[in-house]
Amino acid sequence: MAKIFCIANQKGGVGKTTTSVNLAAGLAKLGQRVLLVDLDPQGNATMGSGIDKRQQVLSVYDVLLESASVNEAVVLADKCGYHVLCANRELAGAEVELVQLERRDQRLKNAMALVDGQYDFVLIDCPPSLSMLTLNGLCAAHGVIVPMQCEYFALEGLTDLVNTIKQVHANMNRDLKIIGLLRVMFDPRITLQMQVSDQLKAHFGDKVFDSVIPRNVRLAEAPSYGLPGVVFDAAARGSQAYVEFAQELVRRAPTL
Ligand code: ADP
Ligand code: MG
Repeated sequence: MAKIFCIANQKGGVGKTTTSVNLAAGLAKLGQRVLLVDLDPQGNATMGSGIDKRQQVLSVYDVLLESASVNEAVVLADKCGYHVLCANRELAGAEVELVQLERRDQRLKNAMALVDGQYDFVLIDCPPSLSMLTLNGLCAAHGVIVPMQCEYFALEGLTDLVNTIKQVHANMNRDLKIIGLLRVMFDPRITLQMQVSDQLKAHFGDKVFDSVIPRNVRLAEAPSYGLPGVVFDAAARGSQAYVEFAQELVRRAPTL
């Protein structure tokens, strides 16, 4: 059975997409069968996996509206070693179109049930909002991975996300839990970041992943080459950190 995880945080620019593509590539390197679902109409995870979002006829939009199956719509990111269910601007319209439909929050979950045996991990890159698209992700998932920067308002933003996860857990998806908080773009030389990191550990204990992703320019450069950092420059510190994170997740997966 596939482990299905949302990469979510309603803030933009916190490293969701970077985490999604690099974790997918890291898991693939470890021999895991991975599907990356791009649920953000911006399509950054799609492009960052080397797939031109403008050339895709079928995407996650068609899967949500039940006009295509996952197997019809997925493409292989051949340099990265994982499959992608792509997103493009069409997906922004899905938000409105779904409102009129039945079981609108369960569309992705139902689609995933049909490919369950084909993957070890399904990673869902969520948009920066708590929208119907994110809700589809949360209803389909076993858990949430929350990338976060250790900055002053980080804990405040987390409260909203934790409350949303609690509500989805109570009303829509009893499986859903926080898998862990991933510290990203981390710089230990900045005192405030160390302080927030300590606060996180005090509040959330072992829900904070051991792996820490450093701020690393190679991770930021990689998308312009249509590759995750892990593939673009495997030796970079940031890439190594994501592979370590993939190892941590594989190690913990049986208990998640
Ligand atoms: P989100 O998907 O949450 O909006 P992104 O993953 O797109 O966030 O990251 C926002 C920006 O930060 C991007 O320009 C990305 O390249 C950069 N970035 C993300 N993680 C790192 C990192 N560890 N080191 C340096 N830059 C990073
Ligand atoms: Mg993103």
